Amino acid sequence: MSRQKIAAGNWKMNTTLDEGIELVNNLIAAEKDKSVLTILAVPFTHLVTLDKKIKSKGKLKLAAQNCHHKNSGAFTGEISPSMLAAINIPYVIIGHSERRQFNFEDNQLLKGKVRAALDAGLKVIFCCGEDLEVRKTNKHILHVKIQLEESLFSLDVKEIKNVIIAYEPIWAIGTGETATPAQAQEMHNSIRRMISRQYNKRVGEAINIVYGGSVKASNAKEIFSQPDVDGGLVGGASLDAKEFIEIINSFPPES
Ligand code: PEP
Repeated sequence: MSRQKIAAGNWKMNTTLDEGIELVNNLIAAEKDKSVLTILAVPFTHLVTLDKKIKSKGKLKLAAQNCHHKNSGAFTGEISPSMLAAINIPYVIIGHSERRQFNFEDNQLLKGKVRAALDAGLKVIFCCGEDLEVRKTNKHILHVKIQLEESLFSLDVKEIKNVIIAYEPIWAIGTGETATPAQAQEMHNSIRRMISRQYNKRVGEAINIVYGGSVKASNAKEIFSQPDVDGGLVGGASLDAKEFIEIINSFPPES
């Protein structure tokens, strides 16, 4: 199975519904590389309306930015994976560093969320990555290994195929600082080898690993040309249609 080229936008807590509709209209109208799977992680309030807009628009898909680890119950303010599946949302982001930081989500909780999401039939975009302190002490690969072991590696071979891994060094998110293409490649290759060791080489070769952290139109080409980078998870730059379209169109031509 060959890997997908993926451009995922994470809108975070940005855009009113009307602004979201305008952004999607611009994306639909644009000339885009048709081989790229484009995923928009939008606020919960936008999902139903935007889903109607993008229906049958081929490789444009929606994601939620989070979900709960239970399917129902007394959890005021939460959204469950089965609620997302019931409105046909295909993807959910789990483990974004902002949720780890501001909502105290740890590897164990995230393991439960991944399990609940996959059981509900969703595909997971699982975020991992180190902060600056860990990077400075050169423990970044070990740090990510532990994140994957604790949250993902109880999945079986069939289940892990429904996971996209997003490597997002925290020091590069929203900071304007980007990992160098070599730093991204080093981590992506390490993750691929970890997956190969845990499952098998075929699974390791097939899993999609995207990079996140200040991806912009000006740096996407270089990052996406790394052999183990299958695309990007893009925050700020995904809120500007023109910029995001340029990012979508930044993949190297198929060889
Ligand atoms: C993100 O939110 O996942 C992200 C990578 O943000 P930014 O592109 O703004 O750094």
